[in-house]
Amino acid sequence: MMKEALRQSLATAAARRGELLRVMDELATQEHDCSRCSGVCCTFVANSMLITPLEALDIAAHLLAAGADIQALLQRLGESAAAQGLDRPLPGDGRRTFGRRRYTCPFFGHGALGCSLPRDAKPYGCLAFNPRRAGQTDGGDCGSPGVETRAGELELTRSLGLGDESAPIPVAVARALGALLDA
Ligand code: SF4
Ligand code: SF4
Repeated sequence: MMKEALRQSLATAAARRGELLRVMDELATQEHDCSRCSGVCCTFVANSMLITPLEALDIAAHLLAAGADIQALLQRLGESAAAQGLDRPLPGDGRRTFGRRRYTCPFFGHGALGCSLPRDAKPYGCLAFNPRRAGQTDGGDCGSPGVETRAGELELTRSLGLGDESAPIPVAVARALGALLDA
């Protein structure tokens, strides 16, 4: 099943991001881009992103295809999650949890290096979150129109048996890589 999930991820990742990338490119023509920013939305200052299992699989698929050292990567993801408390349950009342933890994304290279993932593997929320005005150096006026999970995508996720629990990026990607290695 995970091999089929990997195939589907690689075959559909670009198309699933098509509209988000079109909007991002359109904003860039007005210089509403991140080229001058320190990248605060990727750090504990402003990042509390949760991604779906399918988005995590897209990242894992990219890393495998790029020949990454998976054991070293799993160690780095585990350390990132532990150091930032992402491997601990959120406070809650047993029925629901409250709040989210902020964290620095393990794929963030800081400053000019920015995000180390290619556009076709980036989480949807990262692609959707863009500056509302040009030339920002530390964010502050950025936003997202919100990303709806489309019915077709939910169907794909269910048919691949990926589950539906979203998680912080290091946790979700480690789960996806672990499942691929076990397959
Ligand atoms: S995946 Fe890339 S864009 Fe998204 S939070 Fe991580 S470093 Fe930032
Ligand atoms: S300009 Fe906004 S969206 Fe772009 S990297 Fe900075 S904080 Fe993030």
